[in-house]
Amino acid sequence: MRRSAERRRPRSARPCYEESGYVYATGAMEIARRSGKEPIARLASNENPFTPPPAVLDAAILALRGVNRYPPEEPGGLLEALRCYHGDYHFTAGAGMDGVIETLLRALVEPGDRVAVATPTFSFYGVAAMGQGAQVVPVQRRADFSVDPEAFARAMEGAPLGFLCSPNNPTGNATSPADIAGLLDRMDGVLFLDNAYVDFSDHDYRPLMKQYDNLVIGRTMSKIYALAGLRIGYAFLPGWLAAPYRRAQTPFAVSTVAAAAAEAALGEEAWARAYRDHVRRWRERYAREIRWPVHPSEANFVLVDVSPRGSDEMTEALASRGVVVRSCRSFPDLPDHYIRVSIGEDWENERVISEINRP
Ligand SMILES: *Cc1c(COP(=O)(O)O)cnc(C)c1O
Repeated sequence: MRRSAERRRPRSARPCYEESGYVYATGAMEIARRSGKEPIARLASNENPFTPPPAVLDAAILALRGVNRYPPEEPGGLLEALRCYHGDYHFTAGAGMDGVIETLLRALVEPGDRVAVATPTFSFYGVAAMGQGAQVVPVQRRADFSVDPEAFARAMEGAPLGFLCSPNNPTGNATSPADIAGLLDRMDGVLFLDNAYVDFSDHDYRPLMKQYDNLVIGRTMSKIYALAGLRIGYAFLPGWLAAPYRRAQTPFAVSTVAAAAAEAALGEEAWARAYRDHVRRWRERYAREIRWPVHPSEANFVLVDVSPRGSDEMTEALASRGVVVRSCRSFPDLPDHYIRVSIGEDWENERVISEINRP
């Protein structure tokens, strides 16, 4: 009897979550596992292939001893380390840059608001904005994947927030700081500039924070600092946004262990530089040796045009030979003949070059 009473209200999730959501690149991994070709080259997620340096692991292990207590309200040590590293800016840290993006949406966007996104790009901006009830307005990049400033400024009219990724995932190209400044001049809303891959490029967008109060720069410890599994990212905020952002944030968003590891990682500049040099070396080799058009990249991955083959077709063929790359089929506004290949360890990169070049 009680059961039917409970069921009177039909159970359904919000329409935006009935079908769509973040797309994980797990299918190719399954195929590679079944192929039995061990070890598998894991080049699908732009992760750092190397274990974090010993000082970072030690800091994390030490912090584990204190996890019976909640973390402090703010990860003070990490925020101080960020000011030492970058200079005197307002910082906030979150559970990955993804956590920062969610909080920022809560702080700035009301249901029904427009949110502009320069596409093709990282899909989480759209997924998270939809979750906030926003109307996502895609602004398609040009054929060379540069951003059309007129089109972006038009989409930002009346919009409280827009997303632009530079260097962009999955295309690898960057928008120059001067072009970002040009955009900021023309918009009233806030621009979230995703700098997840900036350490692999020659650009420095930080000075823009001194000139514009409608800019938020997102950074992550997942890529260059090899902490993807700990979920830690941060952002540069304009001063006026720091307090409302804090009120919108999930309590204790950053774990004690993640904060300690991130703080230690910022001290490992030589280690990070060595990885960056490894990435740059391999980026050039990929461009030279892969027998398909490789788009110029300023990140730790490249976008490869595999036409006339399809994205999934090529991804599955490589997976069955023990090489996992990212099919770009799920990226809206990108034609269906691209794969994204991360730079991994030497043996992984050698393997992908020889497998991708097979007739
Ligand atoms: C990997 C990545 C992130 C990182 O997010 P975390 O949540 O910090 O791991 C953010 N933006 C882009 C474009 C990425 O590729």
